[in-house]
Amino acid sequence: MEQAEVWYKNGLRFHCTGCGKCCTGQPGFAWVSLDEIVAIAEYLGLTIDQFAKKHLREVNGRYALKEHVETYACTFLDGKACRIYPVRPKQCKTFPWWKENLKTKEDWEEAARYCEGINHPEAPLIPISEIHETM
Ligand code: SF4
Ligand code: SF4
Repeated sequence: MEQAEVWYKNGLRFHCTGCGKCCTGQPGFAWVSLDEIVAIAEYLGLTIDQFAKKHLREVNGRYALKEHVETYACTFLDGKACRIYPVRPKQCKTFPWWKENLKTKEDWEEAARYCEGINHPEAPLIPISEIHETM
């Protein structure tokens, strides 16, 4: 992708406030790869089997972290903090720099409706090079 072509070529404002809203409140899937499953299980001191039974759901041949049925909160959300923060899935580490959030300005504004860090008045301007490195 040519950097000059995209609508956010001048960068985007984002700063995570740690509000935790991206981990709860709406149905979704925090996908985990096999490597991530191994790393998280090890971090928690669980066998893969124990971890899978307690924390994973299989969806169309892929694995996602379980979420609470009523609140849709990720089961690793503790207050506003992530209990597996150092080994959280790549998907969590790269939010909000997801292709679907960056497709159009409207998609970015849509993500800003639940993520208060997007376009936050105190957020620094993140250059496009950094955005693409993080994606
Ligand atoms: S793993 Fe952590 S960062 Fe990812 S959705 Fe769950 S609580 Fe949020
Ligand atoms: S919703 Fe946005 S500001 Fe809040 S924790 Fe998630 S990334 Fe950070």
